[in-house]
Amino acid sequence: MVQIPKRPKGTILLIDGKCIACGARCQSVCPVDAIEMNDKGEPIIDNQICTICRKCVKECPSDAIENYLTPEEKVQMTEFEVWKASVAKQASPKPKVAVIVDEKKTEDSGIFDWKGVWVFVEQVNGKAHDVAWELLAKGKTLATDLNVELAAFVLGENISHLADEAFGFGADKVFIIDHPTLKFYRTDPYVLATVNLVNKYKPEIILMGATGLGRDLAGAVATKLRTGLTADCTGLTIDKDKRLLEQTRPAFGGNIMATILTETKRPQMASVRPHVMPKSEFIKSRKGEIIFETFSLDESEIHTKVLEIISSANKGQVNITGSKILISGGRGMTNKENFKLLEELAEAVGGVVSGSRSAVDNGWIEQPRQVGQTGKTVHPKLYIACGISGAIQHLVGMQESDYIIAINKDKTAPIFSVAHLGIVGDIFEIIPAIIKKINESNATIVQ
Ligand SMILES: Cc1cc2nc3c(=O)[nH]c(=O)nc-3n(C[C@H](O)[C@H](O)[C@H](O)COP(=O)(O)OP(=O)(O)OC[C@H]3O[C@@H](n4cnc5c(N)ncnc54)[C@H](O)[C@@H]3O)c2cc1C
Repeated sequence: MVQIPKRPKGTILLIDGKCIACGARCQSVCPVDAIEMNDKGEPIIDNQICTICRKCVKECPSDAIENYLTPEEKVQMTEFEVWKASVAKQASPKPKVAVIVDEKKTEDSGIFDWKGVWVFVEQVNGKAHDVAWELLAKGKTLATDLNVELAAFVLGENISHLADEAFGFGADKVFIIDHPTLKFYRTDPYVLATVNLVNKYKPEIILMGATGLGRDLAGAVATKLRTGLTADCTGLTIDKDKRLLEQTRPAFGGNIMATILTETKRPQMASVRPHVMPKSEFIKSRKGEIIFETFSLDESEIHTKVLEIISSANKGQVNITGSKILISGGRGMTNKENFKLLEELAEAVGGVVSGSRSAVDNGWIEQPRQVGQTGKTVHPKLYIACGISGAIQHLVGMQESDYIIAINKDKTAPIFSVAHLGIVGDIFEIIPAIIKKINESNATIVQ
């Protein structure tokens, strides 16, 4: 019988003097709550509970936590590594070369009959959502790369005036369906109207805002058209040789950026959150072609009735996406009380306080102020990240800010990779110093 060597477990230990009190990252990854933090922000590891999963060892930014092995365990580990390498060698498969012939993607499949880039102009009470104009700017680049027209389409009642706005933001054509059943957004009539338009004119790309309304419509339309939809894209480009839309978005919990293609179906559909892409300049004199499309649907055929519109917008609630200056705090702030320091800085510079998901999960700020993948995407003129490590899920929500200042005591923190100005140091020394300097200078911040 072959003796399989066991991997020794060892013990998880804190190495004296190496912890930088990064904000309890080790504690946050521990799946069995075996780590408590002391007053200095250093971990106390309970080896009775610890299952030696080594997550804290990998997470520690200063290599302060080790998986300690006794001399005997070290010998066992060497035997184990040798055995593992030999097994891997035996098991390694011969490289295979696969040639995938996508039979459907030929001239006969009809996908080359689809032409043009379309943007859905979401509107409520005749006022367009800004994301439509942001998408027209991106749509223009895509249409230019494909050498096709850029069109906008608007659904609603009394919405023709939006055509001029769409032209000003870059549309060559605007399709309008003006109909009483489209007065308020309801999935069924909006899907029907969109699908009819798309089947008639066959655009190769459709872009929609990833708002509540846009998400609902895009998903239902893609299902009806039996095509692909990539939600919450952060990047859109064209593979000019294949005429394919390259749709980039965070995947696997934000750990990778995936580029997704809709190779065999048309239209290629993508949604993008507001504020992810910049608007282009509005040119009032720009004009284009308006196409009024008809639509026959009787109100009696629609199951959903709108009885009353009740706005959910809480007037007292701050909208961080509209703020030009954001002072954002993370786990490094260590408690709710310390967020007062950020409020002071925000007041000094005329900004608004936001934060990472850790700050929200800890109850230090409210969820509507969260920046990132599961929070808001922001595009302020100035973003000051205080005690935020810069996890990819946070970066995707703020990396397009015009100017980013990061303050962090860990010089290897990923936030510095997107920062225009990085300050390595303790927030509790740096922020008061900045506030003092601003207050002393009597400077006026022009936003
Ligand atoms: C599916 C999914 C979605 C997610 N969505 C989001 C999201 O929308 N937004 C988001 O933010 N996160 C999101 N996360 C969580 C994300 O992965 C990170 O866990 C989170 O962003 C970490 O927050 P943080 O940077 O505040 O904390 P940490 O990563 O713990 O960083 C704290 C930082 O503070 C620094 N620090 C500590 N003390 C000081 C001090 N005194 N002075 C200076 N620096 C100090 C440390 O060096 C460290 O870099 C998501 C995760 C998943 C899996």
